[in-house]
Amino acid sequence: MKNRLVMQIGLALLVLLGLSGGAHSADKLKAIASFSILGDMVRQVGGDRVEVVTLVPPDSDAHVFDPTPADAKMLAGAEIFFVNGLGFEGWMERLEKSSGFKGKTVAASTGVKPLTMSEEEGHHHGEEAKDEDEHEHEEHAKGEDHDEEEVTDPHAWQDLANGKLYVANIRDGLIAADPEGKAVYEVNAAKYLDAIAKEDEAVRAALAGLPEGRRKIITSHDAFGYFGAAYGLEIIAPEGVSTESEASAQDVAKIIRQIKEEKIPAVFLENVTDHRLLDQIARETGVKIGGTLYSDALSGPDGPAPTYLDMFRHNVGTLTAALSS
Ligand code: ZN
Repeated sequence: MKNRLVMQIGLALLVLLGLSGGAHSADKLKAIASFSILGDMVRQVGGDRVEVVTLVPPDSDAHVFDPTPADAKMLAGAEIFFVNGLGFEGWMERLEKSSGFKGKTVAASTGVKPLTMSEEEGHHHGEEAKDEDEHEHEEHAKGEDHDEEEVTDPHAWQDLANGKLYVANIRDGLIAADPEGKAVYEVNAAKYLDAIAKEDEAVRAALAGLPEGRRKIITSHDAFGYFGAAYGLEIIAPEGVSTESEASAQDVAKIIRQIKEEKIPAVFLENVTDHRLLDQIARETGVKIGGTLYSDALSGPDGPAPTYLDMFRHNVGTLTAALSS
């Protein structure tokens, strides 16, 4: 009887500890992360010492996010604001100003070697340029503005080597904001960096077996440039590096031609973009839809990609399943 009572008290204590995460939330460092992928990374490094709120929710598109007054109020009450940078959060400065945020903003992509892309030609720099001369003449003849627009590709997190830079920046940002937690952040970051390095090896191993002819794929917006550069896939996207710009009829016609000519094996939907354009492309070409990739946001907790590393596992599993058969 007495033992049972002790056990019940013990259980009650465990529940209490579990609910409060070992520390009162009032004592925790208040961090805001702009989007869900970054939010997970901050949670991994911050552990119990940090309360993380994510502005753009899972399965939502950060390119076209429209912050609410409630978001501004939340940011005003935070001590540190983690953003991707590289122009990903076009709404960020306006939000910072309107909120009167007094804390520190940390761009997690600091130190990343950015990929640029010319929106005109629809492919990343460093890739072999196709002979487009004839098409360019046609377009000039139609009197279209043909200035090549150089845009920075913000999706650096899709290369796990960049993910390691993100983690280092998050760790250093947390230490600067909360020096007492230095040892905790360092241990958490070291563990996480290790897990990221292992996942990087796993991704390389999984994709190594794909035949040369099956390494070119279509996604709706150009979110996988860093992924492709790091892991040896060529990604073609009708929509460019931001979902804000819609694909032109010309872009779509070009991709349909390309799928047929180059026998591209599959198109992939994304969790953050409308499926209609790719459905149409698949119908017109007969190309297979290979599944859904997580590009700019995680899934909810019960979905297939609730963390940054789960996202890679899911995406690589989806890619290999569709491309090896
Ligand atoms: Zn994107």
